[in-house]
Amino acid sequence: MSLLVTGTIGIDTIETEDNRADDVLGGSAAYFAVAAGLMHPVRLVAAVGEDFPESFRQVFATDRIDHAGLEVRKGSKTFRWHGRYERDMNNRESLQTDLNVVGEAPPKIPDNFQDSKYVFLANTHPAVQRSFVEQLKSPKLKVCDTMDLWIKEFREDLLQTLGVVDGLVLNDSEAKLLVPDESDLIACGRNILGMGPKFVVIKKGEHGAMLITNDVVYALPIFPTDKVKDPTGAGDSFAAGMMAHIAEVDKVDPATLKRAMAYGACLASVTIEDFSLAALRAADRDTVQKRFEEYRRMLSFD
Ligand code: AMP
Repeated sequence: MSLLVTGTIGIDTIETEDNRADDVLGGSAAYFAVAAGLMHPVRLVAAVGEDFPESFRQVFATDRIDHAGLEVRKGSKTFRWHGRYERDMNNRESLQTDLNVVGEAPPKIPDNFQDSKYVFLANTHPAVQRSFVEQLKSPKLKVCDTMDLWIKEFREDLLQTLGVVDGLVLNDSEAKLLVPDESDLIACGRNILGMGPKFVVIKKGEHGAMLITNDVVYALPIFPTDKVKDPTGAGDSFAAGMMAHIAEVDKVDPATLKRAMAYGACLASVTIEDFSLAALRAADRDTVQKRFEEYRRMLSFD
């Protein structure tokens, strides 16, 4: 079943305690598209500026990613983000965010993408996320992501967007920012359900992720790896594994959601093993499936 993603495609500068990567390919939709593409065909909608390098554009020129919705806008500049991780890699600081083309009119969803059934609104301006929902004919499932910048500075826009999506994926610090009066994560998640979504996935960095609906709450661990180089894109890759599995089986029941989160954990573990999209680009479906089987074995006991 068709899967569409929209979000940012950008040029990142990443600093970790021991390393640094300048002007590398990044952006929420970039990670999502390349990660999801390992499992299921994906339609990409995003805008970049005319400074976007051709070599970066080629990353999306694969038979698993339909990039007809990637607009190179004349006279505009590409989104840029500079982030720095603390020593434990769980916390990061956004040192600089230049919205550039992301602060302008949103790209148009191509006519032949408007029938997309599964939709992921990766991190971008919440008003832009909403405008995409409005352009789609009859999506079966709309899930969005958000982050500190949007929660702090565009809260009203974000609340409106939460009113029109089925699911929200965010990390623990973002959940607490969205529900400032609650320190308990489950309570935060339940509070967010009251804002519109039917399910909330709260990612907890190296501590895994939690699903909260009105009926169930469960937590899954990460797929452990000791090769963490750059955690950027882990969240988008998690969402990609989740959405790609849901689109693949074309179901959203609780068992599917749980398996989908397991695929998310496996894809996130691939992404963080190298800077930018390098580890994802070196992986294939087999890499993901092997990790999934290992993850399943790790979690089964009698
Ligand atoms: P993640 O680590 O999964 O949260 O995603 C990291 C990616 O998100 C980076 O490649 C950034 O380019 C991009 N990014 C950073 N800040 C924002 C923002 N405010 N909105 C959308 N994308 C962002």
